[in-house]
Amino acid sequence: MKGQRTGRIGTVAILGAGPAASTLGVLLARTGLRVVLFHRPKRAPLLVGESLVPAIIPMLRLLGVEGQVRHFSMLKPGATFNISAAVNFSFPFEQLRGSMPRYAYNVPRDRFDDTLLEAARQAGANVIETAARVERVEGADRVRLHPDTLAAAGDCLPGPPDLIVDATGRARVLPNLLDIPSRSGRRKDTALFAHVDRTQLDHEGHVHTSRLDRGWSWRIPLPGRVSVGMVMGSEFLPKFGTSPEEQFDNLMRQDSVLREVAGDAKRLTPVMQYSNYQLVSSRVIGDNWVLVGDTAGFIDPVFSNGLFIGMHSAMALADAIREGTQPALRRYEREVIHHLETWHEIVDYFYDGRLFTCFHVGQMLRDTLLVKLTFSHVNKHLGRIFSGAASTSPYSVGLLRFAMKHGLMTDFAVLAKA
Ligand SMILES: Cc1cc2nc3c(=O)[nH]c(=O)nc-3n(C[C@H](O)[C@H](O)[C@H](O)COP(=O)(O)OP(=O)(O)OC[C@H]3O[C@@H](n4cnc5c(N)ncnc54)[C@H](O)[C@@H]3O)c2cc1C
Repeated sequence: MKGQRTGRIGTVAILGAGPAASTLGVLLARTGLRVVLFHRPKRAPLLVGESLVPAIIPMLRLLGVEGQVRHFSMLKPGATFNISAAVNFSFPFEQLRGSMPRYAYNVPRDRFDDTLLEAARQAGANVIETAARVERVEGADRVRLHPDTLAAAGDCLPGPPDLIVDATGRARVLPNLLDIPSRSGRRKDTALFAHVDRTQLDHEGHVHTSRLDRGWSWRIPLPGRVSVGMVMGSEFLPKFGTSPEEQFDNLMRQDSVLREVAGDAKRLTPVMQYSNYQLVSSRVIGDNWVLVGDTAGFIDPVFSNGLFIGMHSAMALADAIREGTQPALRRYEREVIHHLETWHEIVDYFYDGRLFTCFHVGQMLRDTLLVKLTFSHVNKHLGRIFSGAASTSPYSVGLLRFAMKHGLMTDFAVLAKA
């Protein structure tokens, strides 16, 4: 985190009050900026994004909320992947090296979001309980708050803010208003998710990622329940029913993997549905506006890193706003797009099978000299990428790229001779 503010931005309106918005709200209010968060109080019965990665822990400490989060969450000591009979492994965070915490949490999202928002309030941010409306300024790359929204802020915003930050998540208020193009990912998936009373788990607290007959699923243990998600190509779902509830319940009974691990589970909540969520905005800043969190882009749920990416971008944005210059904001834009594109690439390695083929072959050949020399080094850096610690490190990501390109060929060559 950089020091005191030096630029010209004195008042900031943040649209939304999710984790990215609240993180930004805390950091800006602490440096004396006038900050207003517009919070739409009505929320869906369940919020997605319940499993954290270890790299979020230092952020929770910085925001002063880790103790509270620990109190209502489930400790997450690692991640387990059930990919096939041959590829079935766990990654305990204990194996992480360096200063990164060796745990994370699985969080009930409503309480997590409320805790962060309260931290923003305590830091001095003003929270206005209303959905924000914005308008485009004709002939300029600018936006303004709708008069009703500005009026709702009352004395908290005596005039138009210097900067408007869109943190509205998948609602993407400014990208929709300004027709900002975005790059969609290759996957056209739908995710269904709900809470159930229990499922089988290989390791307590671990997020479990399992390959299904079609697609994949997550199991996230929470206090007193388990979050179950199913992700698959949207075209396959109608065969399981017409409503999300019917599809979810039938998949639990009919998919061979889910039947085994959760066949007798009782669903406790309605089923939520998300479709086609992989996208990256082509622009993240304008003359008087900025995007942060999911509004800027979201990649994929498979590595549980959406909150990490969103909160990380909020921290980078806080630095840029304190500096308050266009070059600082442009640097923020480059960093955010680069981070999202890097994750896009990593997620592609998961879906095209390269990541696990490489891992599997490495395991099979772990007694060979080549693998003995390289495996633990590569493994250490992969762990750092997936925990979030090194997802922006050129060395770790470069090593992953190298392993995916050359390591796989070497592995197959060795395998062919074996
Ligand atoms: C299927 C799926 C599974 C996922 N699983 C994980 C996971 O396990 N771990 C993880 O870290 N991430 C996960 N994610 C990603 C995670 O949910 C998001 O990255 C995270 O919630 C982004 O936070 P945010 O603050 O940017 O947006 P949000 O959390 O979406 O917050 C945006 C807020 O803005 C509000 N809003 C919208 N419009 C307005 C308006 N006009 N005025 C005022 N407020 C408004 C919304 O009500 C909301 O409160 C998953 C995502 C999907 C799709």
